[in-house]
Amino acid sequence: MKKIPVGILGATGMVGQRFITLLQNHPWFEISVVAASPKSAGKKYKEAVKGRWIIKETIPSRIANLNVDSVEDDLDKIAKKVSFVFSALDLEKEKIREIENNFASRGIPVVSNNSAHRWSKDVPVIIPEINPGHLSIIKQQQKNRGWKQGFIAVKPNCSIQSYVPLLTPLLKFQPKKVIVTTLQAVSGAGKTLKGWPQMQENVIPYIDGEEEKSEREPMKIWGKVAGGVIESVIEPNISATCIRVPAEDGHMASVSVSFAKKPTKKQIINAWKNFDPLKKLNLPSSPNQFITVFEVLDRPQTRLDCNIESGMGISVGRLQEDKIFDFKFIGLSHNTIRGAAGGAILTAELLKTKGYL
Ligand code: NAP
Repeated sequence: MKKIPVGILGATGMVGQRFITLLQNHPWFEISVVAASPKSAGKKYKEAVKGRWIIKETIPSRIANLNVDSVEDDLDKIAKKVSFVFSALDLEKEKIREIENNFASRGIPVVSNNSAHRWSKDVPVIIPEINPGHLSIIKQQQKNRGWKQGFIAVKPNCSIQSYVPLLTPLLKFQPKKVIVTTLQAVSGAGKTLKGWPQMQENVIPYIDGEEEKSEREPMKIWGKVAGGVIESVIEPNISATCIRVPAEDGHMASVSVSFAKKPTKKQIINAWKNFDPLKKLNLPSSPNQFITVFEVLDRPQTRLDCNIESGMGISVGRLQEDKIFDFKFIGLSHNTIRGAAGGAILTAELLKTKGYL
């Protein structure tokens, strides 16, 4: 099968680097463009990331020697070389919206990691296992914007992948109130521990804009497509506190939840173990087991468990009855794999399977 040529916008950054390594042997997609800011443009990829390549594996040799394009100045040139792009840009939201719209209006679908389009009512925010049906809004989006082949689909904030996949199979028990405290790794800020001395032996109880995203985005993901928009749900009520901790990778979430129809502990565990709605599609990046349940007391742990299922699985443990809420538990996901590049690649695989790419 001829592979689909894809471009990475923001290819030199932390998430961009994940795209490069995750796509190197992809059965359907092949990187044909790496693009970044004018500062990196014109250099070979290996020169553009010199001194800031943070992934343990080496740069794939074919990519190391690709010339980096400028996302904005080379837009038309890039659009001729790719069938779709992944966006891992980090710059002002207004600018990102403009760049992503420019690609989509030229017939190039954009699968984005950025939050710039997450609140557009005709843009789906996808976790493939949870709301694949939201892709149906794409036709309306194209109609609204006069685009024929291009469209924008986005993935949600990395923090929510540590608890939304765990709450979703429990929606049948009608969760009413959720308190979540996230303990987020430094790579979530595009940084390393070495490059961020203030984080060493430290915890910072503030991440700009994160709590609002962590509370609002799940409501859109659990919503429905109706009347040409995605309507958010209004329950459960989520209160989030987001904290930066000195871990390299992996976002943990401590979750307390009360339900209208309180389940038993066994029902919760069964709901988690059996929740794998994408399994039948057999997508290349799907984990074998979406949710891994730990019944020992001291797991999941960020360093030990964030790479579960090659970073695409969600793990959960410490499920206990709670004195104030009904239950509490700890969730964990890999923020730059499941929470960013890997989640976006899985979304693109779903888009291809459903005929959008
Ligand atoms: P990053 O390491 O700072 O990388 C940013 C990328 O954007 C670099 O490739 C950079 O190119 C490029 N860029 C910056 N200014 C540009 C410009 N004016 N024109 C074109 N390209 C420009 O950021 P990151 O952590 O990878 O995050 C990327 C996106 O993913 C962000 O929207 C972030 O919110 C989102 N995200 C991150 C995570 C995570 O865990 N890190 C998780 C989920 C979502 P140069 O190298 O040339 O400057």
